[in-house]
Amino acid sequence: MQLIHTLRGAMRRVKRRPLDTASLQFRLTTEIAALSVLCLSCVAIWTSWKMQQLLITTHTQSVEYIANRFPRDVELYSEMLPVEIGLQKTINNVSVAGLVIWVKSIDGKQLLAQSTGATSSFTATDELMSLAEMPLKPQVYKVGSHYLILYQGLVTAKGKLLGKVYMAQDITEDQRQLIAAIQGLAIVCVLATMLTMAAIALRIRRSLQPLQEMSQMAGAISVDDLSQAKLQLSNAPTEVKELAQTFNMMLSRLSDAWEQQRQFVGNISHELRTPLTVVLGYLQSLLRRSNNLTDYQQEALETAASEADRTVRLLQDLLDLARADSGYAHYLLEPISLNDLVFEVAGMAEKFSSRLLQVQATKTVVAIVDRDRLRQVLINLIDNAVKYSEPNQPIDLILEGTDQQATIQVHDRGVGIPLQDQSRIFERFYRVDEARARSTGGHGLGLAIVKTLVEGMGGTISVRSKLGEGSVFVIGLPI
Ligand code: ADP
Repeated sequence: MQLIHTLRGAMRRVKRRPLDTASLQFRLTTEIAALSVLCLSCVAIWTSWKMQQLLITTHTQSVEYIANRFPRDVELYSEMLPVEIGLQKTINNVSVAGLVIWVKSIDGKQLLAQSTGATSSFTATDELMSLAEMPLKPQVYKVGSHYLILYQGLVTAKGKLLGKVYMAQDITEDQRQLIAAIQGLAIVCVLATMLTMAAIALRIRRSLQPLQEMSQMAGAISVDDLSQAKLQLSNAPTEVKELAQTFNMMLSRLSDAWEQQRQFVGNISHELRTPLTVVLGYLQSLLRRSNNLTDYQQEALETAASEADRTVRLLQDLLDLARADSGYAHYLLEPISLNDLVFEVAGMAEKFSSRLLQVQATKTVVAIVDRDRLRQVLINLIDNAVKYSEPNQPIDLILEGTDQQATIQVHDRGVGIPLQDQSRIFERFYRVDEARARSTGGHGLGLAIVKTLVEGMGGTISVRSKLGEGSVFVIGLPI
C-alpha cells in the first residue's frame, strides 16, 4: 500500500523539464510539424497557381477568340460599308468588360479606329497606344499600376492589308482579388499549421505520458519494495503495456535473485557464526587460564580473540539484517510504557560503558512496539553515542509523546556527522570516515539494523548533527 502511494506520489510529481532536443517528443513533433508545413505549403502554392491560371486563361482565351473573329468581321462589314466605318462597327460590336481595341495604319502613324469607351470604364491611354510592339498572342503585362492582357494582329479588308489591330484588357480588379485570395489562403495556411502543430504536440505528449509514468514508477522502486513492486498503467497503449509487463517480469526475477542473495548471506552468517564463537570461546579461556605465556604468545592470542570477536559481531549484524529483510523477524507489537524500557536500557548501558546517561521524560508515554527490537535499537544508538564522543561527555535520552507519535531522542555531545554523510549513514556498510570507524571497531551495519527495525515497527528514524557539537538521533514510534 505504501509502495503504491510512493509510486502515485512520484507520478504526480511530473516535473516541467527544460526543452530536450534529443527527446522523442521533440523529434516527433518537429518532424510531423515540418511535414505538415510542407504539405500545407504545397497545397497553398498549387491552389494559388491554379487560381491565377484560371483567371489568366479565361481572359486570354476570351481575347484570343475576339482577336480571331476580328479580321473576319472587318471583311464582312467592308463588303457592305466603307472600310473605316466597317472597322469602327466591328470594334463597337465587341462588348467585353475592360477591353479596348484600336487599329493603326501599318506604319503606326495613323489611328484608323478605336473603342469609344462606351463598353468599358477602361480607356486606352496615349502611353498604351504609343506602345510600338505587343505580343502576337494574348499575354498579361503590368503597365503602370494596371495588369493588362495585350495583343496585336493584322487586319485586312478586300484582300488589302489595312493596318494593325491592338487589344488591351484591364484585369487589375481580378488580379487584386486574386492577390487578396492568395493572402487569405496564406493566413489560413499559417493558422492551420499552427493549430496542427499544437494538436500534434499535445497528441504526442499524451501518447508518451505512459512512458513517463513508467520511468517515474520505476525510479521510485527501491530494493525494499522489489517484491511488491508492479507497474500498472491503465490507459496506456498496448505496446507500453507490454513493456510494463516485461518490466514487471524482470522485477519479479530481480526480487527472487535478491531474496536468494539475502538467504545466502543469512545462511553463511549463521554457518560461520557458530564455529567462530567456539574459536572465540577457546581463545578467551586460553587467555584467562594460561599464566605461563610469553609476551608474543599473549599478544597473538589477544589479537586473534579481538578479531574473532569483531567477526562474530559482524556475522551477528548480518544475520540480524538478513532476518529483518526476509520477514523472519516477526514483530511482537504491543503497547508498552517507553519510560520503563528507556530507564532499563539506560541503566544497563551506564553499567557497561561507565558513561553518564541522563533520561528526560516528563510524562508516561505508551507506544506500540516490539520490546526486544526497540531495546536493540536503543542499544545500537547508545553504543554509537558512546563510541563517537569523549568519555567525560554525558548522553541524553529524551522521551516525549504527542497525540500522533512517541519520540525517543538519543543525544550525544561527540564528534558529529558531516552534513553530506547524514543522509547516507543508514545505508549498509556506510562509514563516515574509515579511519575513525576502524578505530571504533564498527562495520557500518549498526544504523542499517536500527533503520530496518524501526521501520519494521512502523516508526521513523532521523538524524540532526553538527560537526564537533554532537548528534541527535530521533526515533518516531506509533502510539
Ligand atoms: P559503525 O558500526 O561503523 O558505527 P553504524 O552504522 O552504527 O556503523 O554508523 C555508521 C557511521 O555513522 C559510522 O561510521 C559513524 O561514522 C557515523 N555515526 C553513527 N553514529 C554516530 C554518532 N553518534 N556520532 C558521530 N558519528 C556517528
